[in-house]
Amino acid sequence: MISTARLADGSRRVYSLEWSLMTSLEDTSLKDASPEDASPDGTPAENAENASPKCLAVMYHYVRDRVTGPDREIKGVSEDGFRRQLDILCDTLTPIDWPTLVSWRMGRSELPGDSFLLTFDDGLSDHAEVVFPILEERGIRGVFFVSTGLLVEKRMNSAHQIHMLLCRMGAGTFCREVREWLRRKELSHLADSVEGTLETLRAYSYETPERAEIKHLLTQVLPLEIGRQLVNDLFEMHVGDQVAFAEEWYLGWDDLKRMEDAGHTVGGHGDEHHPYRRMSAMEQARDMNRCAMNLREVLGDKPRPFSYPYGDADGDVARRCAFAGFVNGFTTRQGWVRATDDAHSLSRVDTIHVDALLERIPIVSCSD
Ligand SMILES: [Zn+2]
Repeated sequence: MISTARLADGSRRVYSLEWSLMTSLEDTSLKDASPEDASPDGTPAENAENASPKCLAVMYHYVRDRVTGPDREIKGVSEDGFRRQLDILCDTLTPIDWPTLVSWRMGRSELPGDSFLLTFDDGLSDHAEVVFPILEERGIRGVFFVSTGLLVEKRMNSAHQIHMLLCRMGAGTFCREVREWLRRKELSHLADSVEGTLETLRAYSYETPERAEIKHLLTQVLPLEIGRQLVNDLFEMHVGDQVAFAEEWYLGWDDLKRMEDAGHTVGGHGDEHHPYRRMSAMEQARDMNRCAMNLREVLGDKPRPFSYPYGDADGDVARRCAFAGFVNGFTTRQGWVRATDDAHSLSRVDTIHVDALLERIPIVSCSD
């Protein structure tokens, strides 16, 4: 359901019902909206909205230089690459922080023009050690999404354990070890359906078929508990103690406090970092509520955004995210954020797609 409100400059802004409900007690521009402002077919409003400023929410994971050592093949952005991309983004768009994004989407303020918001998933130590100082130099404020249960208990995110196992063993040996583990537990039948499916190739289009198959099997096919136990066992056998690795691999609560004090935003990325589409409604709600509670207890009670582990969220998952108290939910669906988008299904663009996307944006030079 859509409603519109007239802004001080006479233009109209379109709101989803969700935003109207969230802001109706405070936002005078919404109180003043009259029924005749509504656009029944939405067409003029949509046209106006397409011409309005929009925001590119950019998603990063690893930001590190790994030129030597066993983990050198982990895919990520180098420190120089990150600086270069910031240069390009700042040349083309205006950096904004998350409160500015919220304020714009509520109709309380306008964007200065097409903008970008930096987001960082998974609470990696890279974000405190590499990203934070660079953003401080440039006066840019980002959003850092953390999986709270893993942070509290100092456990590794399964996706990162898989990255490390692939680096240490190579895909062929890793695949054989996985199948051998399943055979020993008499669970080989669980891996029968995975080979060569279209879904596998689509989900990991950037990977070799062998790596895609093993990632898909471990995160999307095996029952969550079995997948986790398998990865934990192989990690301990071939890499080491996950608590010791977690200490080094992830930032800590003190880092997050420091970053919040400097004006950055800390958001939720689930409690356990499980894919929600593989969980029951009850499990989804419990995970999001725990995440919200952990953030509240350690960092304080304030509005926060959320990013869905593994990226996607259907309508039910998005509604549970809202019920857990998160103001926005970010997916990994590619696209710009617009003022009228559903608050809990916002698009993002992976760092690897940013350069190509920006080449298509005309750069307007200043005449002065
Ligand atoms: Zn993640």
